[in-house]
Amino acid sequence: MAESKPKPKPKKEAVPMPKQNAKVRRQNFDEVALGYTEQQAIEEANRCLQCPKPQCVEGCPVGVRIPEFIKLLQERKYEEAAKKVKERNALPAICGRVCPQEEQCQQMCIFGKIGNPVSIGRLERFVADWERDRGVKVSEKPASTGKRVAVVGAGPAGLTVATDLVKLGHGVVIFEALHLPGGVLVYGIPEFRLSKKIVHAEVDYVKKLGVELKLGYLIGRIHTIPELLKTCFDAVFVGTGAGLPAFMGLPGENLAGIYSANEFLIRVNLMKSYAFPFYDTPIRVGKHVVVVGGGNVAMDAARSALRLGAEEVCIVYRRSREELPARQEEVENAEEEGIVCHFQAAPTKFIGDEKGWVKAMECIVMELGPPDESGRRRPVPVKGSEFVMDTDTVIVAIGRTPNPIIQSTTEGLAVSKWGTIVADENGKTSLEGVYAGGDIVTGEATVISAMGAGKKAAKAMHEYLMSKR
Ligand code: FAD
Repeated sequence: MAESKPKPKPKKEAVPMPKQNAKVRRQNFDEVALGYTEQQAIEEANRCLQCPKPQCVEGCPVGVRIPEFIKLLQERKYEEAAKKVKERNALPAICGRVCPQEEQCQQMCIFGKIGNPVSIGRLERFVADWERDRGVKVSEKPASTGKRVAVVGAGPAGLTVATDLVKLGHGVVIFEALHLPGGVLVYGIPEFRLSKKIVHAEVDYVKKLGVELKLGYLIGRIHTIPELLKTCFDAVFVGTGAGLPAFMGLPGENLAGIYSANEFLIRVNLMKSYAFPFYDTPIRVGKHVVVVGGGNVAMDAARSALRLGAEEVCIVYRRSREELPARQEEVENAEEEGIVCHFQAAPTKFIGDEKGWVKAMECIVMELGPPDESGRRRPVPVKGSEFVMDTDTVIVAIGRTPNPIIQSTTEGLAVSKWGTIVADENGKTSLEGVYAGGDIVTGEATVISAMGAGKKAAKAMHEYLMSKR
């Protein structure tokens, strides 16, 4: 009998993601990462060892059956692979693009001990894109339970809870304040990282499952949560996110030319200022832009400013490179495009010209002390180390706080001192029938953690609804 050929040893290095050239992409808003070809996806999928006790699944907040979908991919069963992912994740093309897999599923990949972990996110993106290009099929609707749920906010948390509940036979209506669904996915993350076509396609899938979307509905103003419960709904989920910008309270922060990253990115993404004059909503970006902060939001704002014509863009961050909270991949992309990072410095005041426009930012050097409660080394100002940076545009990206309307219009809803809604690990709040999850509970976090919270809440809400006569 002929001996079967031994399987070639998997490569230690992951298949690199094809990208637009840095010089070209800094002048356009098209997606930077181009996605794997079929051959690249198969090559990368073949690196997966199909561990009998897969740790990667433990690292995924929504519990995608990762080895199972990769096995289907190895067998070139793309439709089945996409279906397998969708069993747990309704937004795979989005997660495949923006989730911090390096800190979640991929961090747990056993291959990471000897080389690069398997690029799970890129493979997830591949199968989701493959399915979308060929037309997404939706399974038959389940029998109705006769229960109705209102979901407030159409971000990742709200879309996930709605998907899981509609699949269980409940009637679900999402109320979204903006004219477009997606939350931060549409108004925050720019086109060059996450094309809005992808977001719209994944939201369409949620609608096809039977979820009703009501746009332009600000809950807390049009209706309150108690009104929703009293009139048409058996339970409510609040996924209203953390959409309020934080400021530093420094002298001169109100000068013209200083934006919050929220305003800046909303004007770029939602009002499409990058497409002026086709959209008549331009935004003024100067020549010397400074972005304050070091997270994904800061990177997105800096890279958007560059694409809008700034000559230089500098990120000022108070800690060192090691503590940068932004995804490493996006920091590398930003630096390749020409963004300069200035570490261990923080603004102390803004200086304006005679017309009230910002013309400079005074900073102070920071040294790093012992770790603070976040586990990162605490930045401490160095006395007398002030210096001045010339700038004509400043974008403040130092954090976001919870949207407050629901909390202030829902009597009896427990709220933390940070303004987040208090909920247990299953999203249950202090009010019967009211659940919450995502950034409104945790403060600003990630897409996949918001989706994970949505999944847990859906399970708890289903139990609650079915126990109610
Ligand atoms: P949101 O996405 O904020 O959605 C909340 C929705 O509720 C919004 O649509 C809002 O309009 C709506 N809403 C609010 N109040 C009301 C009301 N009263 N009535 C009706 N609707 C209401 N995470 C990652 O994992 N990877 C990244 O690369 C990444 N990059 C980011 C870049 C930027 C610029 C920003 C701002 C965030 C980024 N994040 C990233 C974080 C991530 O997007 C959020 O953690 C996630 O979107 C939170 O989801 P959510 O559903 O809780 O809230």
